[in-house]
Amino acid sequence: MRFMVLGGGLAGVPTAWYLHQSGHEVTLIDRAPALAAEGSHANGAILHAGNAEPWNSPAVVGQLLRWIGREDSPLLLRPGQLPNLAFWGLRFLWHSRAAPYRFGLEVNTRLAVYSRQCMEELAANTGDGWDRAQRGSLKVCRSQRSLDEVLGGVETLRELGVAVEELDRTRVLAHEPALADGADDVLGGVYFPEDQSGDPCQFCRRLGARLEAGGAQVELGTSIQRLERDGARVTAVVTDRGRFTADRFVIATGVDAPQLVAPLGLRLPIRAVKGYAATIPTHGHADAPRLPVIDDDRKVVMAPLGNRLRVAGMAEFAGHDRTIHRHRVDAVVRTALAALPAFAGRVDDAEIEPWACLRPLMVDGRPLIGSTPLENLYLNTGAGHLGWTIAAGAGRLAADLACGQSPEIDPSGLLYERQAN
Ligand SMILES: Cc1cc2nc3c(=O)[nH]c(=O)nc-3n(C[C@H](O)[C@H](O)[C@H](O)COP(=O)(O)OP(=O)(O)OC[C@H]3O[C@@H](n4cnc5c(N)ncnc54)[C@H](O)[C@@H]3O)c2cc1C
Repeated sequence: MRFMVLGGGLAGVPTAWYLHQSGHEVTLIDRAPALAAEGSHANGAILHAGNAEPWNSPAVVGQLLRWIGREDSPLLLRPGQLPNLAFWGLRFLWHSRAAPYRFGLEVNTRLAVYSRQCMEELAANTGDGWDRAQRGSLKVCRSQRSLDEVLGGVETLRELGVAVEELDRTRVLAHEPALADGADDVLGGVYFPEDQSGDPCQFCRRLGARLEAGGAQVELGTSIQRLERDGARVTAVVTDRGRFTADRFVIATGVDAPQLVAPLGLRLPIRAVKGYAATIPTHGHADAPRLPVIDDDRKVVMAPLGNRLRVAGMAEFAGHDRTIHRHRVDAVVRTALAALPAFAGRVDDAEIEPWACLRPLMVDGRPLIGSTPLENLYLNTGAGHLGWTIAAGAGRLAADLACGQSPEIDPSGLLYERQAN
């Protein structure tokens, strides 16, 4: 069969890879001149099955109230976005009740754990070159509220197949001595030994290169304008470089998926949540962290990538505005480096590479994978804050569902059908 995968980020590239591995003809299209040039370019770089909970949580309302209106807060709602978010926001809060949250946690964690297994296969094909590290990750808590919440979730995570170790303050610092100088308020945390980290952009580009070398067609610099339809089937993709036909199509265009499928009558309740990241050369300094760290109270993450440190954070509802606001990047860097005073003293601001990108967030905090009401149109989008964590598993699942193979995991909770609920 001839497949066309639309979008060359963390969702599209693994999907295309698995379709090609199943023996199909595959064309991957992206408007950018290189793969992973948008949302998947420079994220927090952590594959964290222990952090797969949806953002819709019972705690979210209190957090929103604390943060609203603060320009330096981890969450920012631009007033111009209110009309775009009003109904969606109410649905988001509806899914933040205890029962849907628990269901979302189970669904996402199942996919994240599966993804770890699939990643072994993909990594064997990409080889090195994306600064992969399998050292686990550390979640650090600086308030009693966050520590209670994190420790309260440990048993559930274990039941869902995630290895997790509870840590007191001393053991947090033993795991990551680089935190010691900025740890006055650290109360404890958890260690996830099976988590990993790596550069998502280099991963996508290496896997894409292998895909192309294996005979798949990768059409970069090709902007999709619309999908053509005949009855219940999509017949072609119309781009600025001509019309492409295929038997089946998979949409993996991240935050742009809703606009693309809306003319076909499909409504995807996905909104863009902007985040900021910075890449900082470490020049081998011993004071740089060795482990990926999630700072639960400060809402920033940091991950070593070879001789660089990636820091990331913020959730900004600003529509599809991709502007890199330097003051927001600086706020993320400042917050992250406050935990690493010894390393911070060695950072040269001129060497910091800023980035901003958009997370495609589904209203219920779970990705959207599989078939649609159109016979030959499939989805892999809506991964929100989890696109790297689930990339391999979601790609495999999307490919299996699109080519009619039985998936290795239960896809319920991820399918388009739930839109009806
Ligand atoms: C600050 C930040 C930190 C993050 N940290 C982590 C983390 O530590 N761990 C984790 O698991 N996840 C993390 N994420 C989430 C993760 O980065 C995203 O979920 C993921 O990148 C989404 O991938 P995607 O392929 O769906 O979207 P994208 O990477 O945006 O890919 C969509 C592609 O579609 C293409 N496209 C769109 N429209 C068209 C069109 N009309 N024509 C042609 N091409 C088109 C785009 O060019 C783009 O390449 C983070 C996100 C942010 C913002």
